[in-house]
Amino acid sequence: MDTMKLAELLFPHVTATPEELEARFPERKVPEGAVITRMAPSPTGFVHLGNLVQGLVAERMAHQSGGVLFLRVEDTDAKREVPGAVEVLIDTLAHYGIRFDEGATKTGDCGDYGPYRQRQRADIYHVYAKKLVQQGDAYPCFCTEEELTQMRADQEAKKVNFGYYGPYAVWRDRPMEDIQAALDAGKPWVLRFRSTGSVENQFKYTDLVKGVLTVTENDIDQVLLKSDGIPTYHFAHAVDDHLMRTTHVVRGDEWLPSLPFHLQLFRALGFKAPKYVHIGPLMKMDGTSKRKLSKRKDPELALTYYKAEGFPVRAVYEYIMTLLNSNYEDWRKANPAASSDEFKFSYKKLNPAGALFDYAKLCDVSKNEIARMDAETVYALATEYAGEFDPDFARVLKGDPDYAKAILSIGRGGKKPRKDLATWKDVKPYMSFFYDEYFTSEGFAEGFSADTIRTALEKFLAVYDFADDAGVWFDKVKAVTADIGFAADMKEYKANPDAYPGSVADVSGFLRVAVTGRTNSPDLYTVMQLLGYERTVRRIRAAMEAL
Ligand code: GLU
Repeated sequence: MDTMKLAELLFPHVTATPEELEARFPERKVPEGAVITRMAPSPTGFVHLGNLVQGLVAERMAHQSGGVLFLRVEDTDAKREVPGAVEVLIDTLAHYGIRFDEGATKTGDCGDYGPYRQRQRADIYHVYAKKLVQQGDAYPCFCTEEELTQMRADQEAKKVNFGYYGPYAVWRDRPMEDIQAALDAGKPWVLRFRSTGSVENQFKYTDLVKGVLTVTENDIDQVLLKSDGIPTYHFAHAVDDHLMRTTHVVRGDEWLPSLPFHLQLFRALGFKAPKYVHIGPLMKMDGTSKRKLSKRKDPELALTYYKAEGFPVRAVYEYIMTLLNSNYEDWRKANPAASSDEFKFSYKKLNPAGALFDYAKLCDVSKNEIARMDAETVYALATEYAGEFDPDFARVLKGDPDYAKAILSIGRGGKKPRKDLATWKDVKPYMSFFYDEYFTSEGFAEGFSADTIRTALEKFLAVYDFADDAGVWFDKVKAVTADIGFAADMKEYKANPDAYPGSVADVSGFLRVAVTGRTNSPDLYTVMQLLGYERTVRRIRAAMEAL
């Protein structure tokens, strides 16, 4: 077969050469050991937690080594593409703080190694497609869908491996006349790789996460270019990651089965293969067994979920760091105020089998994250969230920012900050009793008569002075307690509980329910100070009336 002639026949329009492309996209000038990597998502309209996990690994590996992270949009599968998905993708990754140095942006491309959208790179792929044909490493295949379906049915009946290989690779060694005739007849064709691998052979490969793997050679003549001239993922991956000078490919381990083929392709193209970092899927416990997070069953796989639930972006980021590197949590405890960039991230600590997603843990991390924020930040982020998901509450928050911030300041800062909030959704139930329009009461705890409660509240009102400091205020609560025959001293009460009908804790509880409507609340003195004298008294009176 005259492969030079075949190449001309298939790609008459291609005049550029691989050498020209090599010169156009030279090796990058980066320090020794710098990682050049990328995120290469397909714009399906659905951005999931796994994208973020991969993005973060890639981002850390690049930036920690003084390298480059770029964004490449893999839009070769037009059937799957959703309008606006590229924008959604770019916005979402930016929202979660993945910082790209170059690549696709909403307003076009940024960087010297583009275009960064694969559909704009067709002419580049064709240069290498032509080269492979010239070398005898690729050939056209004119099989129709029906023929391929038939082939699969035959393979199923014979119980042999599926795919276009060996005797099933019917166009692999066809004479030029047949190809010419098919082209003349205007038949659509795909370009296939001529594999020289055998499933009898295995070889060792070291993945940076999975470790040493024993893999079987690929014997299938995979498609490189589809009939519209657009490459498959495999071919585009090899060409793009070579020309964009990627040193490390961080991707999902669903690509691991294609690895032998990818290595063959790099070899045939004369490219040095990148190092691979294959990330396991996110898992979750389902009863007692582990399973992959699924798009269908698990809403928490979608990144939109975290926004709607009101998890701060930083909390999701911190949580992923704890998932990726088990020592992150201790580091964070020791360095509460440090930027996460100061943590020494290591891909070696990634769990090869995939990280276990744990919602309760995410909430914990998020509580810590919110506890570290100042009231001003909490106010701003909670108001932003409410603006999108609870406009009525946003109006209330914006109605009196100082009041809201004062409420959010309770128990903030200091060594042991309060950890009431895991999400921005929690802010409303946490603060609502401070606002008359949201105030509701759980009612008083059982076990005390209405008379006892009423008497305690009445006595408190008689001595309540807004100007008292916390110490004097509490002394008064204790005095009321003693006055109704309850134990004012908790130690005494605990030593001899049967001697009293109740204690100062119970009396505080009456006041708490009267003022906040709940049995649990932040420090009651502070709450009363924030509510103000009139509102406090009004609520206590109303509670007495309702008894
Ligand atoms: N477009 C591929 C995907 O979304 C990218 C895999 C890769 O990073 O190479 O799975």
